[in-house]
This record gives sequence, C-alpha cells and structure tokens, in this order.
Amino acid sequence: MKIALIAHDKKKKAILRFCKEHVEILSKHDLYATGTTGTIISRETNLSIHCFKSGPLGGDQEIGARVANGEIDMIIFFRDPLTAQPHEPDVSALFRLSDVYEIPLASNPSTAALLFESLK
Ligand code: PGA
Repeated sequence: MKIALIAHDKKKKAILRFCKEHVEILSKHDLYATGTTGTIISRETNLSIHCFKSGPLGGDQEIGARVANGEIDMIIFFRDPLTAQPHEPDVSALFRLSDVYEIPLASNPSTAALLFESLK
C-alpha cells in the first residue's frame, strides 16, 4: 500500500510515537510524507520515506494530487485541532479529496491504530 504520513507541528511527537510502535508494518509499505514530518520519522526510525514539500509550502497539495491520481491508498494525518494553521485551505482540501476518492484517513492515533489492525 502507499501510505501518506502527515502531522501538524504539535502532533509530530504523536506521529513519531505511532510510527515507532508500528515500524514493522510501515516497513512493508511505500511511505510518503510532508517534508518535516517525513524527515523526522525517517531520521528516528530509518524507514525509507519519499518526502514532499513541507505542508505549509504545498506538501499537502502534492499529496492531494497523488490521491486524485489514485496513487495514495491511506492517509495518516495527525491534525492539531487547537492551533490555527496558515495552510488550513490545503488541509481541508486533502480531507475533502480523501472523501471524494474514499481513501481511508486517520486524523488521530486511536483511529490510525484501528486502521493499522486491518494491515496486519
Ligand atoms: P510538515 O507539514 O510535515 O512539513 O510540517 C505538515 C503540515 O503542517 O501539513
């Protein structure tokens, strides 16, 4: 599967923890991420990740384009619900595309853990 990993700044620790807990499953899939998220995860886990631009600089839109082309199968996007994001329109657009194309999207660790059960 092609899995996209994204986390807002205050959720970076949470996505890193999630990836460490699920490193074995993740290592069996093709991984994509926005720039900062992907750099942190690959540095801390040695997972191989294709990094797009940072989210605020267009990374979410790059992943959205992949979704529209049928090139992403699952999105893990740990969103910060308590902080305004300068690129909120891009974030909403990605969530919207996940619904348009019916791509499973987990926006928090509990949902992501349930989704990953289906990958075992
Ligand atoms: P980042 O982007 O991984 O480059 O921080 C994530 C986002 O805020 O969309």
